[in-house]
Amino acid sequence: MTKIKRIAVLTSGGDAPGMNAAIRAVVRSALAFDLKVFGIYNGFEGLVSDNIEQLDNKSVANCIQRGGTILKTSRYPAFKDPNVRKQAIKNLQKHKIDALVVLGGDGSFRGAKLLGDEADIRTIGIPCTIDNDIIGTDYTIGFDTARNTALQAIDKIRDTAFSHSNNFLVEVMGRASGLLAMDVGLAGGAEFILIPEIKVSVDELVERIRSRKRLKMGSIIVVAEADKPGRSFKIAEQIEKKIGIVYKVCVLGHTQRGGTPTVRDREVASLMGYHAVKSLLAGETHKMIAYNQERYVTVDFPAPDLGARPFAQEDLLEINRILSES
Ligand code: ADP
Repeated sequence: MTKIKRIAVLTSGGDAPGMNAAIRAVVRSALAFDLKVFGIYNGFEGLVSDNIEQLDNKSVANCIQRGGTILKTSRYPAFKDPNVRKQAIKNLQKHKIDALVVLGGDGSFRGAKLLGDEADIRTIGIPCTIDNDIIGTDYTIGFDTARNTALQAIDKIRDTAFSHSNNFLVEVMGRASGLLAMDVGLAGGAEFILIPEIKVSVDELVERIRSRKRLKMGSIIVVAEADKPGRSFKIAEQIEKKIGIVYKVCVLGHTQRGGTPTVRDREVASLMGYHAVKSLLAGETHKMIAYNQERYVTVDFPAPDLGARPFAQEDLLEINRILSES
């Protein structure tokens, strides 16, 4: 096994709070093991345009508490083109980089895997997404901060909802996954939680609202955005049309992406960053760091086209129904 000497780190795809703590951990762990470390700015785009800089301990000072990513990120579909990746490989060779840590979601890991297949470098992924929906790991960096941000917003909305006896639909992120909606709905006392995995028609929802044991005012329904961000406006319109009950709408949107990472996100990010460097030193490649059954392990990159992690919390929906109705 050849010994690696120079590693690079980049952040790609959607940003997630805690990415900076992971970058810091990768940089400082690598330096502690006598490796040279490079930061690639702007995701795969920066790898292709050679936006690459050597980092030292000071480069990652004072960032553990910041949301977003100090290395910046991008969506760069051109990276699917093998000719574009050839330029990326040239730049890796120019800087003599022999290992790459990619922080991102499953899209970013597809890019990392291809690079590892096509170039003589080791690649390791660190799962980052506020949706917590990556197959192969129980936890992804950013989820805890996002759910706390969303919960704080729901608590604030509840104050005004109660005072005016208004009803609200609060829309949270979650394109393919209802995990965020489930957690904040349960913790925020939502009357109903609509998630992408279990389709509920407006007629069914209206039926449930009608059949409540007591008429609630100031009630909150949490809606995951699913494949139509902003879908809550249409749902509210239809509820009013069908039964005359007005629901105001609050879409939390990108507020859920930013902000100071929580203890949990900083802790997981720090440990995943450390384990990413350790696994590269141990000769591993084409792997993702995962947090499973309270342990940090390496697993294969998620197979392409498997989609989001399946929802396995139907029991929580039922428990929430009991708690919010009685
Ligand atoms: P995430 O990593 O959060 O899932 P995306 O799916 O947008 O976000 O992917 C981030 C980036 O990863 C893309 O903009 C692209 O640069 C790269 N990428 C995604 N899919 C592929 C692929 N099939 N081949 C090569 N690169 C890819």
